[in-house]
Amino acid sequence: MRHVGVLGGTFDPIHAGHLALARAALTVGDLDEVLLAPAGCPPHKKSVSAPASARLDMCRLAVAGEERIRVTTLDMRREPSYTLHLVRRLMREYPDTAFTFLTGADKLRSMPHWEGARELFVLCDFLCFPRPGEDMTRPLLKLEKAGARVRLAPMMPLTVSSLGVREAVARGEESADVPDAVMDFIAVNSLYRPNYLPRLREMMNERRFRHTLGVRKTAVELARRFSLPVLKAAEAGVLHDCAKGMSVREQRKIAEKHGLTSDEGVLSSGALMHGMVGAVLAQELFGVRDEEVLDAIRYHTTGRAGMTDLDMCIFVADAIEPTREDYEGLAWMRYLAQYSLRAATLASLYGTRAYLEGQGKPFNSAGQKTIEDLEKRLSEAEKELLGQRGPV
Ligand code: ATP
Repeated sequence: MRHVGVLGGTFDPIHAGHLALARAALTVGDLDEVLLAPAGCPPHKKSVSAPASARLDMCRLAVAGEERIRVTTLDMRREPSYTLHLVRRLMREYPDTAFTFLTGADKLRSMPHWEGARELFVLCDFLCFPRPGEDMTRPLLKLEKAGARVRLAPMMPLTVSSLGVREAVARGEESADVPDAVMDFIAVNSLYRPNYLPRLREMMNERRFRHTLGVRKTAVELARRFSLPVLKAAEAGVLHDCAKGMSVREQRKIAEKHGLTSDEGVLSSGALMHGMVGAVLAQELFGVRDEEVLDAIRYHTTGRAGMTDLDMCIFVADAIEPTREDYEGLAWMRYLAQYSLRAATLASLYGTRAYLEGQGKPFNSAGQKTIEDLEKRLSEAEKELLGQRGPV
């Protein structure tokens, strides 16, 4: 007979507490494995922030490296499903298995009132984990009287909660309480953050919208690779082209109203101007207050002297995101972006300058200044990297 632990929950999102609990249960409960069972439609939660499919994906990402912790979809249902129903389904799916239901101490008080509690207490054991501020003695006595077999796991209470993670992300702060892969998923999907997509969709055509999503994803990947804040990268990535759907006249009106630049080369080019106009819209229309994010949007077309890593992250993501149609130098830039944002940014600016010169058109002075500044800041290794030629 196999012994399997089941941790049901909303996992909105999964966090280090859930993982610690599942790992500890393997030893404390002498279990062969633990199944995480995210609920598609949690009956007791008034509001769930992330869609069920996203909560499931995050669980899968979180256990990717675990040998004896797996995710089951048996509770991924559209209608509310109670623990008793989940346990019955598990028993059908896994015969010859004894189940131990894992739970945090916050659930103890309500357990005697769970749907079908009497039958549930016969069908499985319980292993309970302490949570800060939760009194366990009285609820445990009540549960024993009700016939439940509950063991307490000897573990220090962990303060982490999904609510805490959601609140941190809503403030724009990354949480160390979720695995990196989960944090990246949250960023790429803008979970627990304002949803800009419906408005953006109205402001641009389908192709640009797909590009926007591609830039957000690539920006997060680059941010993770170069240890930059992924939430800021996602925010700047998704909003970087918010002004691009406007005509040059409309953009110019905004640029002049806000005194954004006197550079006629920029003011006459939508391709250049939409960066600085986009930063105005990001602030006024989308409520972005973070100066680093606004700068990354502002300078994603021309660059600037002293580009920050986040500026370069968005600049490069814009150039290499996966929906980009192939162009001269794209493979080379993707190669460089694995090693250095500075080298990739510079290569992109070189490419634009060469292209314009080939067409007999002037290269903008802001871009030229960016090139000169980046060249000064190159390390020896970056010079060597750029010294290799052509796509590898
Ligand atoms: P929220 O903060 O949204 O209420 P949560 O952190 O309690 O969520 P759930 O997905 O509802 O997360 O929890 C699944 C199970 O994990 C529940 O039994 C819960 O009691 C338990 N659990 C979650 N966090 C902890 C923790 N820090 N310590 C012990 N148990 C926990």
